[in-house]
Amino acid sequence: MSSYWSDFVKDLEPYSPGEQPQISNITKLNTNENPYGPSPEVIKAISEAADDRLRLYPPPEAEQLKSTIADYVGLSASQVFVGNGSDEVLAHVFNGLLNHPDKGPLLFPDISYSFYPVFCQLYGISYKKIPLADDFSIDLDQYQQENGGIIFPNPNAPTGLLLNLDAIESLLKNNTDSVVVVDEAYIDFGGQTAASLINQYDNLLVVQTMSKSRSLAGMRVGYALGSKHLMEGLNRIKNSFNSYPLGHLQIAAAIAAFKDEQYFKNTAQQVISERERVVDQLESLGFDVLPSKANFVLAHHPQKAAETLADCLRDKGIIVRYFAQPRIDQFLRITIGTEAQNSLLIDSLEQIL
Ligand SMILES: *Cc1c(COP(=O)(O)O)cnc(C)c1O
Repeated sequence: MSSYWSDFVKDLEPYSPGEQPQISNITKLNTNENPYGPSPEVIKAISEAADDRLRLYPPPEAEQLKSTIADYVGLSASQVFVGNGSDEVLAHVFNGLLNHPDKGPLLFPDISYSFYPVFCQLYGISYKKIPLADDFSIDLDQYQQENGGIIFPNPNAPTGLLLNLDAIESLLKNNTDSVVVVDEAYIDFGGQTAASLINQYDNLLVVQTMSKSRSLAGMRVGYALGSKHLMEGLNRIKNSFNSYPLGHLQIAAAIAAFKDEQYFKNTAQQVISERERVVDQLESLGFDVLPSKANFVLAHHPQKAAETLADCLRDKGIIVRYFAQPRIDQFLRITIGTEAQNSLLIDSLEQIL
């Protein structure tokens, strides 16, 4: 039988997200969600927005949310682009800003967010993976070569390692002909955002998400920050794809989350201090743990195969992320949970070992 698919679909290899088991008595440390719920103000805002107005289309440009974000980061609303999760924002970024076969391949680290090569395949973008250094840091010197764009998460995922702003600034200076995308999904857990460099560098695009530090993975809100020129390119793509990526409830939730800054700061700080505790305890159990500025850690045990450890944890009702991938197949990526979840993790590992 002939296939009804467009030709390119036959070869697509989609991204596979960490599992979302639909049972409640599991300790879920596998997809870097926030262990704390969203601010009570967010829940209130969603309930208040849930009424007859849902028959209307949402504001296509989500102006109110854009100005809320702009105020928070110190930019103008015309330097903000919003979308249905940062994965959708990234899709438009790859499609609209990173496809330059004439200039060279898109560059990103060999160990990085595994959605990047998937977007490249979807949009037919040629890319080159740049190996991380032996200590798993991003070696920016390796990015001094012909390229049609550069993208990396900061902190990097799944390593958790952070690049400082000086390093990012020199990369921007040396790559003025292509767009440099800094995917800051985890920046609120101890890093400094590159958004402060946007008014100086037209080629800088910063992408952030409300899924991690804002506890709103289920709401699907992400955004990009950059020059007006970059925003216009993204808007052309968005308005050729879906004029209404964010519904009324998403917009209301996102605005309320930004307004409750104290809640955000407290929960991020709790995650950070729990991270430091988890790192100490993993190290006392013999793990090597990469220095993380994210809400997860990447850890390796010299005496026990990572996949076996992941299976043993699963038998005890704890799921962590294991990547059967070169260089990191002896590591576990463990999301920082609540104090109780982390203690359970440590106790369980102690029993297993
Ligand atoms: C989680 C994550 C995203 C996607 O976030 P959503 O906004 O939930 O789509 C993007 N980039 C990196 C590096 C991530 O870890």
